[in-house]
Amino acid sequence: MNTLLVEAWNEIDEDRADPSTKPKKHLPLDHTTEDQCPTEPFPFACPCRKSSPSHGFEPIGAAALVISPKGLLSTWLTEFYSRVDRSHPLGAKLRMYVAHGEARSLINTLAKSLGTNLDAIPEKKDLETIRWDHENQSPRYGSHHITVLTTSGSYDAHVASRVQREIEPAIINHRGKVTRKAVTRCDIVWGIIYRDEFHREKRETAQTPTLIHRINQNQPDWNLPTLWFLSGTPFEKGPSDLQAYLAVLETSEWSCDATFSPYTAKNIVQLGKEFDKLIKHPGTPQEHRNFITKFSNLLALFMIRRTSQTDWFGQSLLPLPPHEARDVKCSIDPQYAEYFQDFQAAVRAKVEQDFHRRMQAWKAAGSKGIAPTLSVKNLVGASYKARICATFPYLIKLLEDGVVDLTWDEITRNKWHTNPGESPYAIHIDDIIRSGRKTRVIERILNMQDVDIHGDPEKLVVLSISPTIAFILWIVCHSELFCPIPCLSVMYH
Ligand SMILES: [Zn+2]
Repeated sequence: MNTLLVEAWNEIDEDRADPSTKPKKHLPLDHTTEDQCPTEPFPFACPCRKSSPSHGFEPIGAAALVISPKGLLSTWLTEFYSRVDRSHPLGAKLRMYVAHGEARSLINTLAKSLGTNLDAIPEKKDLETIRWDHENQSPRYGSHHITVLTTSGSYDAHVASRVQREIEPAIINHRGKVTRKAVTRCDIVWGIIYRDEFHREKRETAQTPTLIHRINQNQPDWNLPTLWFLSGTPFEKGPSDLQAYLAVLETSEWSCDATFSPYTAKNIVQLGKEFDKLIKHPGTPQEHRNFITKFSNLLALFMIRRTSQTDWFGQSLLPLPPHEARDVKCSIDPQYAEYFQDFQAAVRAKVEQDFHRRMQAWKAAGSKGIAPTLSVKNLVGASYKARICATFPYLIKLLEDGVVDLTWDEITRNKWHTNPGESPYAIHIDDIIRSGRKTRVIERILNMQDVDIHGDPEKLVVLSISPTIAFILWIVCHSELFCPIPCLSVMYH
C-alpha cells in the first residue's frame, strides 16, 4: 500500500505539473468536494481528491529494513517472491534483498523450489539507491521499491559496511590541535524498519534496540523511519518486556505530553516494579484494577491488534467485547442449483478436454520435456468463474449470453468502475440480487448494525476472492444510508 501510494503521488504531481497532458488523469490542486478523479487508476480511492480517504496518508518514499531472526529469513523471502506478481509493472520493480552470510544458500533453495532465478543478493549499485541524496536532501527515487532483509547481527557486515560513507572531516583549531576527530557515517536512509519476533530481545542493550538507536543517530534530519515491532507474544510476563522497545519509540516530547508521559522509560520501569510487587503480594481488587487500567491504556495506544482474552489477577486486561463467530448457511437457491451443477460440470469437462489435447500434442511431438498435468491448480483456476457464479447464479446467464465475462479487466477496460451505472451489472442488478442469498444476509446484517464500544457506527467487512463480487456489492450497497469502500488486496494484471 505504501509503495503504491508513493507511485500514486508521483503520477499525480507529474500530471499536475505538465499542462500539456490532455485529458487529465487526475484532479487539479484546486477542486471542489463534488469533483471525482477522472481515472481512479489505483486499487484504492485516488488521493488526488482532497476528500478521499487516502488523501491524508503520508507516503514513505524510502527503503524498508526487515530485521528478522535467522530462522525466519527464508519465510520472509518465500512470502515475498511467491506472492509479488512479477508480471505487474510495479511488482516487477519491487525487490527484496537478503543481507546475511547465508543469503546465497537461502536464495538458491528458494529459486529451485520456485523454478526461477532470483536477484536477491544486492550489488553495490543496488545499495547505492538507498543512500541519502545530499543534493536534493531526500531519499533517492526508487528506494521505496527496495526491502532489505537482515538479522540484527548481520546488519553491519552485510549492509552498513558495504555502503559508501559520508565523511565529516576532523576539526582543527588555530593551534593545529584536533578538537573533533573525523567522523564516518553510513548514509543509508530507511523509511520503515520492521523487527520480527521482537520479544526475543527484551533488554535495551540487546542488538536490535542498539542498532535502531544507531540508525536514528545517523539520520538526525529525517523524521523517519517508522518502527514496527511484530510479535505473537509481545509481553510474556509483564510491562518490563516492552521496556526496550518503548524506549526506542520515545521522543523528547513524551515527558510533556499527557497521553505519552505515563510511558516514558522511567515510568515503564516503575510499572514493571508495581507488577512484580502485585505478583508477590496480591493487593485488593481495586489496586489490581488501577494497575490493569494503566497497562491496558498502554496496550490500546501502542498495539495494533489487541486481545480481549487475557486475564490478569482474575480481571480482563482489555475492555473489549468477547470474540464471537457465527456461521450463516447460504445454500444456492433450488431454482438455480441444478443449472449451476451443470455449469460446474461443463467447466470441469473443459479443463479435462484441454488437458487431453495438450497431452496428445506433447506425445505427437515426441514426449520431450515436462509432460502436461491435470493439476488441482488448473481446475481451481478454471472454476474461478464458477465460484463467482455460485454467489450470484444469475451471472451464469449473463456469462453464457456474452453480456459480461466476469473479469475485473473487463470492468476497468470499459471504465465501469468509474461509471457503475452504465455497467451490465447495474442494469441486471435486480435479477443478480434475487439469485443470491448472500446479499439478503448482508442486507439483514447492515440493517441490524449498531455502534461499537467507542460509540462509532459499526462496520461490516466482506471478503471475497473476486473483485467483480466487490463491484456488484458496491452497486448493491451504495445509497444514502451506506458508504461501501471497495479495496483490492492483491495486484491484478
Ligand atoms: Zn486521481
